[in-house]
Amino acid sequence: MATVTGADAAPLQAVLVTGGAGFIGSHFVKRLLRCPDVAEVTVLDALTYAGSLKNLGGALDDPKLEFVHASILDQPVVDAVMGRHTAVVHFAAESHVDRSFFHDAAFLSTNVLGTQVLLDAALRHRVRRFVHVSTDEVYGPWLTGAASERDRLAPTVPYAASKAASDLVALSYARTYGAPVCVTRSSNNYGPAQHPEKIIPLFITSLLKGQDVALHGDGKHVRNWLHVQDNCAGIELVLRAGRPGEIYNLSDGIDLTNNELTRILLQLCGAGWDRVRYVPDRTANDLRYAMDCAKAREELGYRPTHDLETALAETVEWYRSRPDRWAPALRDPAAPLPRILPGGPEQREAI
Ligand code: NAD
Repeated sequence: MATVTGADAAPLQAVLVTGGAGFIGSHFVKRLLRCPDVAEVTVLDALTYAGSLKNLGGALDDPKLEFVHASILDQPVVDAVMGRHTAVVHFAAESHVDRSFFHDAAFLSTNVLGTQVLLDAALRHRVRRFVHVSTDEVYGPWLTGAASERDRLAPTVPYAASKAASDLVALSYARTYGAPVCVTRSSNNYGPAQHPEKIIPLFITSLLKGQDVALHGDGKHVRNWLHVQDNCAGIELVLRAGRPGEIYNLSDGIDLTNNELTRILLQLCGAGWDRVRYVPDRTANDLRYAMDCAKAREELGYRPTHDLETALAETVEWYRSRPDRWAPALRDPAAPLPRILPGGPEQREAI
């Protein structure tokens, strides 16, 4: 298949970005604002505990950017906003696996019903492109080899199940109604300005504060780490040139066990292995995720560029220099982190 690049595709003009005040969405919005063919970007975000206008920073002063504070579940608002847009990139979601053990309903309503509200409005307004942003977790644990876009979905945890359900709804709109929907599935993202509930910022901020870090189980779980800018680059390629109705895996093949990741972070934060505590594994914790992204590489010319160790060092420096951006999130009483217990439903009931 010939490689296409963004330059081959139609101008984007006006793009609606849901969840654009979150981690990946805000990086994507800044990227879009630099594109000469983008005249208008609207961020629609409910500003949950995970979203912050600080993530958009100076971009909020850009005359091309409009911010709409609303939920994707608010059908009249979504319908009113959708009208003037040519494309949608849908990031908004409840995104933290650990929380999904305790707030399953919020995950299903935002991730599944919210996606359906957007798809409906996009169809009604004949939006030309719709990218639904998803995750490698929908494939479930992949012990050997790598999942391709044709493989079956077998999500383990409620977060992954809600994303798998939303992927299927999005693809059904392409098949049933001819909606111009693409799905991207990326591996774990890292980079500046990620909420400190996620493992890399959690470990960095704990180490910078002089606290220990807790590794689940034996630390041998394998995750593939993708710099947030490399994910955004892939999403932009899919937005411009992805084939409607198609799924694109986005990862860059850098697999690390949690032990290996921790060793790198300890070194970058100037700490030793004595700062690591092993704690019993959580009830559901997939041993390995792995995706084959040959399709994105061959069809779209997708090539991640970030070197993991260099980019992790830059990420640590960001957290070292910006405690104003992460310390409040750790203190926010409206968003207490759930206590994750090992064991079964009886322990969950006990919380
Ligand atoms: P995030 O939690 O940092 O941001 C989510 C954003 O969505 C926040 O700004 C939040 O306010 C907003 N939001 C939540 N509910 C909303 C609602 N009902 N209406 C409008 N806005 C709402 O998430 P992220 O890490 O940036 O992830 C973005 C997307 O990428 C998600 O769909 C996630 O499933 C997917 N993804 C993330 C990763 C990762 O490693 N972070 C990997 C693969 C896929």
